[in-house]
Amino acid sequence: MGPFLSPLPRGEGTASVLPYANPLPSTAMSQQTSMIRLPRRPSRWRQAMTRVLVIGSGFAGMWAALGAARARRDLGAAASSIDIDVVAPSSMLCLKPRLYQRHESVFEVDIAPLLSAVGVGFSAGTVASLDVAAHTARLVGNVAGLSYDALVVAAGSHTTPPPRPWRPHVHVLDSATEAFALRRHVAGLPQRPPSPGRYTAVVIGAGFTGLEIATELGGWLRDLAAGSGEAARVLMLDRADTPGASLGAGPQATILEALAKTGVTFRPSTSVSDITATDGDNVLTLADGSRIDAATVVWAAGLRANPLAGLAGPAADDGRLTVDSMLRVAGQNRIFAAGDSARASAAPRHDTLMSCQHAMPTGRVAGHNAMRALAGAPLIPYTQPGYQTCLDLGEAGGMLSHGWDRAVVWNGAKAKAVKRFINGPVIAPPAADRALELAHATPMPVATAEELAARWQALLGDAAA
Ligand SMILES: Cc1cc2nc3c(=O)[nH]c(=O)nc-3n(C[C@H](O)[C@H](O)[C@H](O)COP(=O)(O)OP(=O)(O)OC[C@H]3O[C@@H](n4cnc5c(N)ncnc54)[C@H](O)[C@@H]3O)c2cc1C
Repeated sequence: MGPFLSPLPRGEGTASVLPYANPLPSTAMSQQTSMIRLPRRPSRWRQAMTRVLVIGSGFAGMWAALGAARARRDLGAAASSIDIDVVAPSSMLCLKPRLYQRHESVFEVDIAPLLSAVGVGFSAGTVASLDVAAHTARLVGNVAGLSYDALVVAAGSHTTPPPRPWRPHVHVLDSATEAFALRRHVAGLPQRPPSPGRYTAVVIGAGFTGLEIATELGGWLRDLAAGSGEAARVLMLDRADTPGASLGAGPQATILEALAKTGVTFRPSTSVSDITATDGDNVLTLADGSRIDAATVVWAAGLRANPLAGLAGPAADDGRLTVDSMLRVAGQNRIFAAGDSARASAAPRHDTLMSCQHAMPTGRVAGHNAMRALAGAPLIPYTQPGYQTCLDLGEAGGMLSHGWDRAVVWNGAKAKAVKRFINGPVIAPPAADRALELAHATPMPVATAEELAARWQALLGDAAA
């Protein structure tokens, strides 16, 4: 899973950093400040038209739709009759990077009004299969299916699921519903009768999500247990021998310090062999035969691409589609993939990660290219060499790193301020009146750690003093 966001802020007072680098031709650039087209299409399916179809209303799908709408405007007559439609089970965009946040209450945003404002249709539906030869996406419960002329697959990912018998006992953080379920569960602990594991949480998986939820739970459980006479404990288990092993050596010292500060105990080289439940607690049996009683168990075993992706073309081990530099699916001219559905080359020797940092720009480029392919315009290559990681570490603050080897730039309160800014205006859907302008924006190339720090300092002002 990739935690990494580019500082592409869309909030107030941040416009000065937006138009940084742009891969679009200068004719498109010159239109960057012109007016946004008014809504012109009803949100319903019509047949016998030329259509860009976007599967998914997450970060990549939303930005693909906006990118396609922007390209349609820029290309003028060559594209003006091309419709753009998004299909997803719901028009709610889940702000997944926030799901671990104890004090956050907005985990999803309805993007239907935004799509409508830029002339993009939305249809609620779940794509069950793709008939690539017939250019048709087949929906659950809809025999006819949806035809397309160009397709963007942006169906996202989900947490690799736990074994079925364990599912009733564990929480995952994949959706707003699941995040609220965890919150309700934790908030209800003080009302439960005392038990050995009432204020014990076990987080299985010490990757990015595991670290964020474990450190958040550290302070959360301690607050709830205060005055009960019972101890609050958070254990984080992983088969790896270090926490955050997938993040490399760069942030190791910061992570270890944060675990110590937040009272999270890491158990290395540990696997779970069973999870059952008693009246109060869950009982975890570890591979070495030992047992842990814990009322709260969070499963954070990494992300896997939606299997829908594999129906569009050859997929990598993690289920993501292999795409070329134009984000075209291997062997296809008019099928593009973005976000967690795509494994693209972001920089020499570095592929995209399952992250918002990569989902938003790949979405934008895939949307532009789907429209451009239909209009006969040259495609835009995707590239994103600049890279950063920002990790929330609960009461220990955060960790901001620079580059693919994740050299730490800031930690503590300053990094936490960056994280909150990312989880706020950076990932929030844009306002309708700026959406098409931003659909043009590309990631800021991050040249040096000093430059990265200076940019965040300028954006955050006193919050990062
Ligand atoms: C707990 C958690 C924390 C995270 N923290 C960070 C972070 O700090 N920084 C970061 O950069 N990244 C983070 N990520 C990763 C980031 O959220 C994802 O990389 C990002 O959401 C990917 O965007 P996406 O649009 O590709 O997929 P998603 O956001 O998963 O959206 C997929 C869309 O496809 C739709 N869909 C699914 N199946 C179908 C179907 N069959 N038919 C039609 N539509 C379908 C879904 O409904 C959804 O609208 C986190 C992820 C999680 C789970």
